[in-house]
Amino acid sequence: MKCIGLIGGMSWESTVLYYKVLNEEVKNILGGFNSAKCLLQSVNFEEIELHQRTNEWEKCAYILNNAAKNLEKAGADLIILCTNTMHKVSDLLLQDVNIPFLHIADMTADEILKEKINIVGLLGTKYTMSEDFYKSKLIKRGIDVIVPDEQDQNIINEIIYSELCNGVIKSSSRQEYIRVIDKMIKNGVQGIILGCTEIGLLIKQKDILARVFDTTIIHAKKAVEFALKR
Ligand code: GLU
Repeated sequence: MKCIGLIGGMSWESTVLYYKVLNEEVKNILGGFNSAKCLLQSVNFEEIELHQRTNEWEKCAYILNNAAKNLEKAGADLIILCTNTMHKVSDLLLQDVNIPFLHIADMTADEILKEKINIVGLLGTKYTMSEDFYKSKLIKRGIDVIVPDEQDQNIINEIIYSELCNGVIKSSSRQEYIRVIDKMIKNGVQGIILGCTEIGLLIKQKDILARVFDTTIIHAKKAVEFALKR
């Protein structure tokens, strides 16, 4: 089994889910007392979130690049970055890093195409929904991506940072998400990407009619698949 290196803490509420899914998946596949070999470098989200807001992404990249190098030095065989948003700086993060990196959008695209779905709605932070770094990965694979309008993007984003990243789960916010998702379904999407690693805390498959692609679960399971590959 290869050792999975996680760059986490963005937020730790979702890193906990990664740790759980990694171990559950290894146990599902191998049985017994088998559990995931992994290393976690967890950053201080206060610093990351501040640099996002002040548009100093190179400072985020510096922190994450150090984390990646530490994981490689410590013996990780692969790296996963436990947030969709911070994949914005994945090229800088990978400078002088020589172990494989499983990009969350590539892993998600694989799952979407497996289901023969080619038009999806994307929910995430305002960075993930409004910028190109994430959507372009899906579009390149032939997947059409629809995002909420600006007003709804602000609502989705606000709930992520003020509630979900603080472990606050409100049914009123779940209703808001369902309202936005229903609009996208009316616009023809066949699947919904939970493109922020905390959204799975709020929205489950049973809440909506379209197929849900929870990036946290997909990413963690793909890491296990990679770790167990001969
Ligand atoms: N975990 C979130 C994501 O998947 C948002 C937190 C962050 O800004 O990294 O995008």
